Amino acid sequence: MNLPEEFSERMKRRFGEEEYAAFLAAFQEPPVKGLRVNPLKISAERFCAVSPFPLGGKVPWEKNGFYHGEERAGGDVYHFAGLYYLQEPSAMSAAPLLGVCEGERVLDLCAAPGGKTTRLAADLNGTGVLVANEIDGARAKILSQNVERMGITNCAVVSASPEKLAKSLPCYFDKILVDAPCSGEGMFRKEPEALSHWSEANVKLCAARQKEILASAFAMLREGGELVYSTCTFAEEETMERVIEPDRDGTAELVCARYYYPHEVRGEGHFIALLKKKGGGTRGAKPFPVRRDRAAEEAFRTFAEDFFGTPPQGEISTLADGRMYLVPAGMPALDAHVLRLGVELGEWDGRVFKPAHALAMAFGAQAKRQEHLSRAASLAYLRGETVPSDLADGWCAVCVEEFPLGLGKCVHGVIKNHLPKGLRAIK
Ligand code: SAM
Repeated sequence: MNLPEEFSERMKRRFGEEEYAAFLAAFQEPPVKGLRVNPLKISAERFCAVSPFPLGGKVPWEKNGFYHGEERAGGDVYHFAGLYYLQEPSAMSAAPLLGVCEGERVLDLCAAPGGKTTRLAADLNGTGVLVANEIDGARAKILSQNVERMGITNCAVVSASPEKLAKSLPCYFDKILVDAPCSGEGMFRKEPEALSHWSEANVKLCAARQKEILASAFAMLREGGELVYSTCTFAEEETMERVIEPDRDGTAELVCARYYYPHEVRGEGHFIALLKKKGGGTRGAKPFPVRRDRAAEEAFRTFAEDFFGTPPQGEISTLADGRMYLVPAGMPALDAHVLRLGVELGEWDGRVFKPAHALAMAFGAQAKRQEHLSRAASLAYLRGETVPSDLADGWCAVCVEEFPLGLGKCVHGVIKNHLPKGLRAIK
């Protein structure tokens, strides 16, 4: 691999000749792959026992992270069921550094496609408030799908600029993750086209953008709150210079910082730093405006008594178009385009309640009406086909073994497929 000359010169200056040779040699190795087991669906221990492909050992800095060499891990039925998230191993280092505890208010400011959001959600374990923001609309949709697939119940997926978000939620969050857009030096092995985008000018451009993003993020952090800043790049302008910059009025304390270099660890490369905010106070926010519709809620309750027995608890908001959401407790009002709020329960057209795919992914494991399929049989469901069943007529969660894949409606011994068309497997 031919590295950009100016990049090589930078790294030679940083490492010296001998270590630079080791760094360079790492770029001749193939990239490493990782997956993070989703504890909202299955324990790491159990996944190791049932993994359909060999795992290549644990990622040392992530309790649920494993190396693997499986090219088709993204097409496996367990992936559709949200049992794991594919993530580059060194990128797994950022979210654990934030040390999120249950009940906290957490923001992932640059969140798509969701590698870190889904880990933060696992730490919150259905409690507290998680806001996952992505400025790019198309990427925000992918983030939203991943949040749904992983069965996350307490997250709002939004799309806004960091400046806009900061105006509405000053000094609000306990923990913030800023996984900033960067020049991508840690992507060279995995995505060689990143090489052609690298230039000194782009490093400076990224650094200026990161400075603005970090300022907005810091404004949203409460006094005593913590912020992890991470990049998949090594350039000082985008890493250490960002986290020790002096223009935060002395309110930022750098707790620790670390580079993950590809010649030192089994990973592509990352930079992570933990900052703590010393002043600025703590502010609340207006609660998310819930829109009540008694008839819609009654229709959901009737459905849920049959489907679940005990329905999921919480406040329901029904939009003017009939879509219904289970709003996470404590969610603030959000001055942003909201793509997903808590769990989409379904749709009420004034006559009939139709459950949503998200409901199956978040709560399907608690459903009393489940159809369990083998791994082989579940491929037919993923292709959009009908499934034979002994269930009584009505809605059910269709599962691979006991892990929900989506919804179906049983009529006379045949389950009609309600997997959204966009999520169906091609083959
Ligand atoms: N955290 C994500 C994960 O682990 O899956 C990866 C985030 S990626 C490194 C950085 C994200 O920042 C991209 O999705 C990009 O669209 C977004 N971004 C780009 N420009 C931005 C800006 N000016 N403000 C905030 N986010 C921006």
